[in-house]
Amino acid sequence: MYYKGGGSKLRNHTTQVQKRARKYIYFECGASFARFLKGILSVCDSLALVCMRSLPLIILMLLPTLLPAQDGGGSLALPEDHLTTGDYARIHADLANQTRLLTQQGLLLQKNEVVSLGWPIRMAAHLSDPALYGISNFVDQDQTTGIRDFNCGSRTYDGHNGTDIFLWPFQWLMMDQNSVEVVAAAPGVILQKVDGNYDRRCDWTTDPNWNAVFIRHSDGSTTWYGHLKRGSLTSKAIGQSVAQGEYLGLVGSSGKSTGPHLHFEVYDPAGKLIDPYAGSCNSLNASSWWSGNKTYYDSGINALRLHSKPPVFNTCPTPESTFDKTIFAPGSQLITAAYFRDQQVGQNVSYRLIQPNGSTWLSWSQTMNTYYPASYWYWTYSLPTSPTGMWRFEATYQGKTVFKAFTLSAIASTDDEIPDQSYVSALYPSPFTSKTSLDLHLNKPQKVSAVLYNTLGQSIKTVFEGVVPATGMVHWTIDTSDLARGVYFVRVQGEDFAITRSAVK
Ligand SMILES: [Zn+2]
Repeated sequence: MYYKGGGSKLRNHTTQVQKRARKYIYFECGASFARFLKGILSVCDSLALVCMRSLPLIILMLLPTLLPAQDGGGSLALPEDHLTTGDYARIHADLANQTRLLTQQGLLLQKNEVVSLGWPIRMAAHLSDPALYGISNFVDQDQTTGIRDFNCGSRTYDGHNGTDIFLWPFQWLMMDQNSVEVVAAAPGVILQKVDGNYDRRCDWTTDPNWNAVFIRHSDGSTTWYGHLKRGSLTSKAIGQSVAQGEYLGLVGSSGKSTGPHLHFEVYDPAGKLIDPYAGSCNSLNASSWWSGNKTYYDSGINALRLHSKPPVFNTCPTPESTFDKTIFAPGSQLITAAYFRDQQVGQNVSYRLIQPNGSTWLSWSQTMNTYYPASYWYWTYSLPTSPTGMWRFEATYQGKTVFKAFTLSAIASTDDEIPDQSYVSALYPSPFTSKTSLDLHLNKPQKVSAVLYNTLGQSIKTVFEGVVPATGMVHWTIDTSDLARGVYFVRVQGEDFAITRSAVK
């Protein structure tokens, strides 16, 4: 397992301790007991993790025979890459040649203007998560065999010339579902495109051939976008212009790469390497090249999810098994999970499970005692049998509150899981007015029907009936202008799955 900054054993150890502690705590959680436990934890307040470590024995003694449940979380290996001196020589020679060719064609006009960089990735339109990325490596500022990032820290590796932006959570699923797009950080001309190379690499030793786009900007600076997904590159040709924020490709793991991430590299008009961040240990350039304020730590919630079983992070490059679920039968097991980037020591997260009437059913908090570039934590509950309706799992972190809605309804009682590597989005928007949408991606082509129901289980209209291919994302828009206010369900029935999504008008 790989962790940045030399703290691998400590971090790994801490993760295991937390996993063990939580497993004990929640091992015997019924719903009422969970409330009792959360009460204890809220008393513990910011010492939640400390409390967790001391509580298990007490709990096991108190309640030895309640329903079993699981709990856990932690962190994972972060993607990285290793371009050698030889790799760089080859790329620089190629780009020099491209620059010469495009200049001869009059396509590279140089202006005296300052280029500032926008963030080079964005989420696809079908996703509603707060964010799906983290930073695993900055530029290595140390010219010797040591490592030092722009902030005088160690979030880099020896000889790294770019910024690595990785997908989190569920990097392989996100890649397969075209969830995260790479966009031009600034306007410019496509200097080079490289495509056709294998894009599910799990190591940086075997294959130097990545898929990449290189943009030349108006001041003569260049930006590199590496490890892209095969076949995902912009259809624009070399020499054509792109706007800032324009699609260039999808995040992948081509070339020397241990997992899906974007390697973003910047050179100034003189061809000198740039670290786009500003910091006291940045010896390459004095000021930030980012157009907005970009900080060393960018702590945030990436996603809240609801699962029927704990997510499984399969062996690279097999996509993760998420067991996502948004409609739960009364009394069934619910797993709430929160996924973070850059969780720092001492930071607090407060969580709530909120009933349809807005009152809190359960609240608890968590304080980190270890830094995690990417982390996740989950809790298991037995839901009550009532009240049915739209519930919310809510988390507040670093001053921001986000939530994920789920429905407690008897309609879910026959629900199956969606097959691995397939995806059915939530209905969006929700609440909706005149229309709502749903996207899906299936792991094999099959006949699918989708029907809209009301809360009484009455069929309102057919959303789709036909064959859904296994390539790309399918988008359905549902006209809801004629519906009364209330909760609605769309049941998507395939040959090997059936799944229900809900939304409110
Ligand atoms: Zn990199």
